Amino acid sequence: MTLPDAHEIRRAVSTRALSAVELCRASLERISALNPALNAFITVAADRALERAVRLDASADRPALPLLGVPIAVKDNICTRGIRTTAGSRVLDGYEPPYDAAVIERLENAGAIVVGKTNCDEFAMGSSTEHSAFGPSRNPWSPDRTPGGSSGGSAVAVATRMTPLALGSETGGSVRQPAALCGVSGLKPTYGRISRYGLIAFSSSMDQVGPFATNIADLAALLQVLAGPDHRDSTCLTEAPPDYAATLDDGITGLRVGVPRDFLSDGVDPGVRDAFDVSLEVLRAAGASILDIDLPHARYATPTYAIVAMAEASSNLGRYDGVRFGPRGDADTLNGMYLRTRALFGREVKRRLMLGTYVLSGGYYDAYYVRAQRVRALLRQDYDRAFEAVDVIATPTSPTTAFPLGARIEDPLQMYLADIFTTSANLSGLPALSVPCGFADALPVGLQLTGRAWDEAMLLRVGAEYERRTAWHLQLPPTAV
Ligand code: GLN
Repeated sequence: MTLPDAHEIRRAVSTRALSAVELCRASLERISALNPALNAFITVAADRALERAVRLDASADRPALPLLGVPIAVKDNICTRGIRTTAGSRVLDGYEPPYDAAVIERLENAGAIVVGKTNCDEFAMGSSTEHSAFGPSRNPWSPDRTPGGSSGGSAVAVATRMTPLALGSETGGSVRQPAALCGVSGLKPTYGRISRYGLIAFSSSMDQVGPFATNIADLAALLQVLAGPDHRDSTCLTEAPPDYAATLDDGITGLRVGVPRDFLSDGVDPGVRDAFDVSLEVLRAAGASILDIDLPHARYATPTYAIVAMAEASSNLGRYDGVRFGPRGDADTLNGMYLRTRALFGREVKRRLMLGTYVLSGGYYDAYYVRAQRVRALLRQDYDRAFEAVDVIATPTSPTTAFPLGARIEDPLQMYLADIFTTSANLSGLPALSVPCGFADALPVGLQLTGRAWDEAMLLRVGAEYERRTAWHLQLPPTAV
């Protein structure tokens, strides 16, 4: 059976119309049936999930839990105590974290059930999941194509209803782009909204956990559980989040939607552009006004992102030396051990570690890293200015639909261009949402909405109104009916 959405599951389990165990089994069976062809999961934690379901069915305070009995898939760069956590890398093969990430604690306190760990590009570096040491995930709409990345496995799990919800992570589009390419909703929250404690670090000034769901009400419920202060992550906002469900039905009459026309002028596939133009008409019909805006520095986002992300990665990944985590390369000398261990990194990670080290090195630091930080500040100013005139900014999430597996793997520049519309929000720390907005050649297209810092509520409200007026989010991929 295809799984109901999270709200329906919560209702069914709290009234005992269905048990958490039945739903957990349904999720696990669907994973067994679909995963061999799609490779969404690296690890399925069936026993642990069923044990938790049994305990939930037996416990007394169940009805109050906001995600009671809801199966959820978790990207494999988020630490789960006692469940292998690889980040898609051979460097962490077999690693079992001694603790749960903050988001896992929050999920479990809310009654959700983690059923497994999803496939991703190695250390979240990529846009297709092809850089996973565990083989690529496949797009359920067309299995010879990529689901996007790096949180591709999570997007596939939700698109095929193996689980109604999933967690991904974002450094530069890794939730929104796969959400768009798989036809589900995905959110990159404001930097600091969700604790990063237990999220395996890639680029610490941008990394953020993000939720996937099949509809906006579920996405809001999941964000509500994940968001909030955590003293273990000093970048985490100390204020509690607002009630996201409370404003979902407020409509968008009088709202101002900005479109950065210049930035969108080239490189967007005609089918994507058509779907995007139609989605603007939907927003207009709902009472919003559509205004042109300028983001003059947005076209520098991709190279700026690359420099910042690679520099921070080269520092963060220094810890994988065989001493504390994962497998250890055998050698007679300390240096030999480092070399053997670090030889386990895949090609893309090695490329980025070398480039990152280069841009931080003496003589180049000012030319690359310092300059990138300056562009980053200018980009944020572009947004601040734009948000004086508009309430949200709309673009396509990705310039293309899902590309064929293998098409860009030898061409890093082409791969990085998959992120041209997404990385600006990461560099600026702003929240951004992708919602399904149509199809081009039978492949899903995503509409991206970017908002003011801390204003996820506005994005969810616009997304909910858009969803009420369209049926794209209800379409199921042919491999999953
Ligand atoms: N695709 C981008 C990259 O390759 C972003 C990855 C991410 O958001 N984790 O770095």
